[in-house]
Amino acid sequence: MEKKTSRRRFISSLGLAGAGAVAGVPVLMRSTANATPAILGGSKAMPAIGTSWPIFGQLEETGLMNVVKSGVWGRLADNTRTAAFEKAYAAATGAKNALAVSSGTNALFAMLGALDIGPGDEVILPPYTFIATYNVIVLNYALPVFVDTDIESFQIDARKIEAAITPATKALLPVHIGGSPFDIDAVLQISKKHNIPMLEDACQAHLAEWKGKGVGNWGLGGAFSFQATKNLNSGEGGAIISNDETFYQKCYSFHHQGQSANSAGLGTGSGTRGSNLRISEFQSSILLSQLSRLKQQTETRNANAAYLTQLLSQIPGIIPAKLYPGTTRSAYHLYMFRYDSKAFAGMSREKFVDALAAEGVFASTGYGMINKEDYVTGLAKNPHYLKIYGEKRMQQWLDQTLQTPVNDRLTTEALWFTQTMLLGPRSDMDKIAQAIRKIHNHAKKIA
Ligand SMILES: *Cc1c(COP(=O)(O)O)cnc(C)c1O
Repeated sequence: MEKKTSRRRFISSLGLAGAGAVAGVPVLMRSTANATPAILGGSKAMPAIGTSWPIFGQLEETGLMNVVKSGVWGRLADNTRTAAFEKAYAAATGAKNALAVSSGTNALFAMLGALDIGPGDEVILPPYTFIATYNVIVLNYALPVFVDTDIESFQIDARKIEAAITPATKALLPVHIGGSPFDIDAVLQISKKHNIPMLEDACQAHLAEWKGKGVGNWGLGGAFSFQATKNLNSGEGGAIISNDETFYQKCYSFHHQGQSANSAGLGTGSGTRGSNLRISEFQSSILLSQLSRLKQQTETRNANAAYLTQLLSQIPGIIPAKLYPGTTRSAYHLYMFRYDSKAFAGMSREKFVDALAAEGVFASTGYGMINKEDYVTGLAKNPHYLKIYGEKRMQQWLDQTLQTPVNDRLTTEALWFTQTMLLGPRSDMDKIAQAIRKIHNHAKKIA
């Protein structure tokens, strides 16, 4: 009895400490922070970080075996797992329609296809993104126009979009990078003013919300990825969500060889181009199982990320990415922050990453300057592009493409933790912060 009471008291005092830490500001324990960093021979802050990925169990196994035994392995049948997943994903995101496709890249590709974007057209995108955002534009021989980054949020700088619009601009393709919303209100206002559709690259942003409404619902359509590292995973896979019935039908047709959902007839999808971008029943089965875990995982990531931000904001030289005020939920596919070496006795970012790794905390330096890589700049010499746009326009394009000073700087300061690091207990966040504090306190010696 005595034991029980004291244990209960202990738990409730822990609870109080926890509540206080959320309401006020959590404090790093001084003693741990002063310990010797692992890179200098001290003990590790964390023996293991986060969780393994993917997280799965009997649900996935049974679901998959049921598909095998049913003999229905593709979507062109009645009562498919794909149709069930589309219904569930539309409900989860608050969209009227969801269309499952074979990848996130193909979700973007189908949206551009539905708009019939092609040679001579321009599409606006940010440089701080995965290369797929760029690739789908170039696959259509349209011109990818980069708009610089807002260093505080890592997102496209909406204030710089209007200057990049020309009469040839046919779509805005901003990205919810890291799974946190870009400034949707600001981009949407420009989209409406110029009557240019906004397509959301929400490939990292499952269940993220802006003012309580799911991302991907704000523009004409939104694209999601279910590639193996993403927060919702079927190995490969993707989806489009849209509240515009005509646009949804066009996307369906594009992903189904130019046919409509209800008819196998060519051209019945009201477009003039198409491909096979269909998803399989195996993937949809896995997605249905994984989707049942997503909401809880998203809540865990958000709670841990909010707590981690409070801790990291107290360490000089560590600047967590800002969320725009309209953000009511992030997907936290990535926990993004900037590192200021000046506050760490000039320790290089790479050295800091090594010191963190020695503590058992693995950080990535994130995207490079994709708009300055040969792969992208080489477009100025691509014979098809020269034929379509002419030498003068392609030279102009190259000059403009290289003018992203804020993004250039960001790529030298950025660091990421991946989403699986946010799925463990809150004490993991304390350990991450302690590891960074230790390194900060011994920066001179490590640098
Ligand atoms: C993953 C990703 C894509 C592409 O998705 P895939 O499923 O890998 O084809 C597109 N854009 C962004 C921002 C992504 O992170």
